Amino acid sequence: MNIHEYQAKALLHDFGVPISRGVAVLKAGDADAAAKQLSGPIWVVKSQIHAGGRGKGKFKEASAGDKGGVRIAKSVAEVDEFAKQMLGATLVTVQTGPHGKQVNRLYIEEGSDIDKEFYLSILVNRETSEVSFVVSTEGGVNIEEVAHATPEKIVSFSVDPATGIMAHHGRTVANALKLTGDLAKQAEKLTGQLYAAFIAKDMAMLEINPLVVTKQGQLRVLDAKVSFDSNALYRHPDVVALRDETEEDAKEIEASKYDLNYVALDGTIGCMVNGAGLAMATMDIIKLYGMEPANFLDVGGGASVEKVAAAFKIITADPNVKGILVNIFGGIMKCDVIAEGVVAAVKQVGLKVPLVVRLEGTNVEQGKKIIRESGLNVVPADNLDDAAQKIVKAVKGG
Ligand code: GDP
Ligand code: MG
Repeated sequence: MNIHEYQAKALLHDFGVPISRGVAVLKAGDADAAAKQLSGPIWVVKSQIHAGGRGKGKFKEASAGDKGGVRIAKSVAEVDEFAKQMLGATLVTVQTGPHGKQVNRLYIEEGSDIDKEFYLSILVNRETSEVSFVVSTEGGVNIEEVAHATPEKIVSFSVDPATGIMAHHGRTVANALKLTGDLAKQAEKLTGQLYAAFIAKDMAMLEINPLVVTKQGQLRVLDAKVSFDSNALYRHPDVVALRDETEEDAKEIEASKYDLNYVALDGTIGCMVNGAGLAMATMDIIKLYGMEPANFLDVGGGASVEKVAAAFKIITADPNVKGILVNIFGGIMKCDVIAEGVVAAVKQVGLKVPLVVRLEGTNVEQGKKIIRESGLNVVPADNLDDAAQKIVKAVKGG
């Protein structure tokens, strides 16, 4: 789960992390009062969307102007003007995809006088089963490009979970950023605070780009991107309360209500599969035959008819779906339950695209019978390869 920059900053501030003063606004009418609560002489008006690259982003609407999604204002009046332009407009960045994201919230901050911009991130390193830091003097730019062009400018290290964060980790960060004296001390302290926040809140990733040194000699977090481990959210009702569903895929929200393992993708073939491994294999074989899956979906074992029907409805409601492949290897999950779920969903919402069904395993004969007697226009398939070829052919031919 992701949160907005302003929420991430508030959370980090609770751990003592230095940030700029700021106020979040949802209505353009509140921008003036927000700016007046803060002191100038410059303010930063920042689009709050769950995507990076906002500064270099472009709004779709000409009325929003061409100054990007992060703007420096030199007066309260200018803050007001930017807020009116940006709120409700659609921002396209390298991370939003071509559709962009509507800006429904702004964060207005006291502007910082920047001397240097650094990069710092913390993430769960799956290879070493440790929490790793990635630090670079090259901040405010795309870190992937830095990693590619000048990998020597990136310093990375892991924290042993048995010892937790130690003073030497802080010194490593300070050295990596070439900081000395008081700024080195600030970096050491910040390292401990960020690690504490990361662990306490079960974060999956914390990215600060840029971390800045101000002309007044202060280290400060100027941008913060945080994502949390979804499997640990039950421990953090305070984090769950920060969820902004307007930023998430509507289909995924619906799927989560039914406890379905569903991930929306960009392709055209909707997939209903049981088991994550079989779901991955199904997606691979669709690609092998030249098309792209519209989703990952593992209905799991022991799903009810209602759950299967809900899953099928989510797939058919996606306008990108031009064909559906049901691929079930019945073990714990029974083929007749899948068949009943599919038939129930089609009765309610209809079926406008080709449907290929491959059933195998527990109660397969009952399952096939239910589909046969339903009168549904289903293309039966014998195995995974046959099923993938048939759905690709049906979509391409239609
Ligand atoms: P992003 O483009 O989505 O990563 O948004 P950021 O929050 O990182 O802002 C983009 C850029 O705007 C930063 O890299 C800074 O160069 C600039 N910026 C952000 N806040 C301030 C500020 O307080 N003062 C100044 N001078 N520049 C800022
Ligand atoms: Mg940034």
